[in-house]
Amino acid sequence: MSKASNKLNPTTEAIRIQIPRTDEGEHSAPLYLTSSFCFDEAETMRAAFADEIHENIYSRFTNPNVDEFIKKMCVLEGAEAGYATATGMAAVFVSVFALLKQGDHLICSRSVFGSTHTMVTKFLPRYGIEATLVDAADRQAWENAVKPNTKMVYLETPTNPQLELIDLEWAGSFAKKHNLILNVDNCFATPLLQRPIDFGAHIVVHSATKWIDGQGRVLGGVVVGQKELIHDIYLFSRNTGPSLSPFNAWILSKSLETLDVRLQRHCENAMKVALALKKHKNVEWVKYPFLEDHPQFEIAKKQMKAGGGIVCVEVKGGIEKGRQFLNKLNMISMTANLGDTRTIASHPASTTHSKLTEQERLNVGITPGLIRISVGLEFIDDIIADLSQALD
Ligand SMILES: *Cc1c(COP(=O)(O)O)cnc(C)c1O
Repeated sequence: MSKASNKLNPTTEAIRIQIPRTDEGEHSAPLYLTSSFCFDEAETMRAAFADEIHENIYSRFTNPNVDEFIKKMCVLEGAEAGYATATGMAAVFVSVFALLKQGDHLICSRSVFGSTHTMVTKFLPRYGIEATLVDAADRQAWENAVKPNTKMVYLETPTNPQLELIDLEWAGSFAKKHNLILNVDNCFATPLLQRPIDFGAHIVVHSATKWIDGQGRVLGGVVVGQKELIHDIYLFSRNTGPSLSPFNAWILSKSLETLDVRLQRHCENAMKVALALKKHKNVEWVKYPFLEDHPQFEIAKKQMKAGGGIVCVEVKGGIEKGRQFLNKLNMISMTANLGDTRTIASHPASTTHSKLTEQERLNVGITPGLIRISVGLEFIDDIIADLSQALD
């Protein structure tokens, strides 16, 4: 690792942490595309397998490029240890399945990422793990959900796509009071805008596919947190195989070098988009964590450094107008991803949540004309011009 790494700001560490240079003296870290690593002595190999020494053995377990990415994420999140996975969902999966067992109970916030919701409601029960979904804003519901076998609380803030916030300070004290593992999906904020561990989270999961890559190229995920919990996650993963590829780790580690500057521009552009759309006659309302009329603006100010890159707007005229709006966009992409350099718009009611009834959608906060905009890094006037002409 780099010299004097303890005294640097985490954003500098995200740039400077690097695996040891080879004899070539390369400035940019080389890519270790190797399945396994060689030993000179049978004894060293034995000791490595016995976990007595830390040596790379096989890239399903550890790999230098993957280690570099994990170390940067740990510094950014203020975590003791981490494990990186092939996708964000693999990170969510191992963070739950490695730590819970048959007979355990999980409390999960009702508004979580679609696949997380499916995992919790459809797959956990198959393995004898019970889950209770609660409305994030209803504190009594959290209290009522606690059972003698409750082991973990899982939540996401801000949520996708409704941008609801959960008070992390409160969640931290709730978990502490009931002696539960607090597991937070920090994908929407990234550690540069919000650090759940500072509020008492034990585990933080990420889809690195989104803002961390930030350029729509690779999928990846990471779990960071307390050493003992991560060790259990590591043992589970090393034997089940959801590991991140060295190539994707190399990309993601490089991406972290620019995350700070990218996010500054994403947040600045997003705020400008939010303010511009608020004035448009065909917009019912705009939701953005750092707008004063966001229902949880006070929480946003307390736990986030900026509002992030996602803006939600309700287009007047419901589902039909929502779809028309998307069809009229010229530059902005219609695609399922988010957290890209390019601005992306999507209409949850007719796509990701189309299988639900209207009432079910409303229950989870998906209104008919809701458009989720992932604000990119393009010149702000071009973004606003495209959105405005589509709304006109
Ligand atoms: C995209 C996303 C995930 C899943 O990540 P993948 O990399 O697509 O597997 C999990 N949580 C949130 C909040 C997401 O937006």
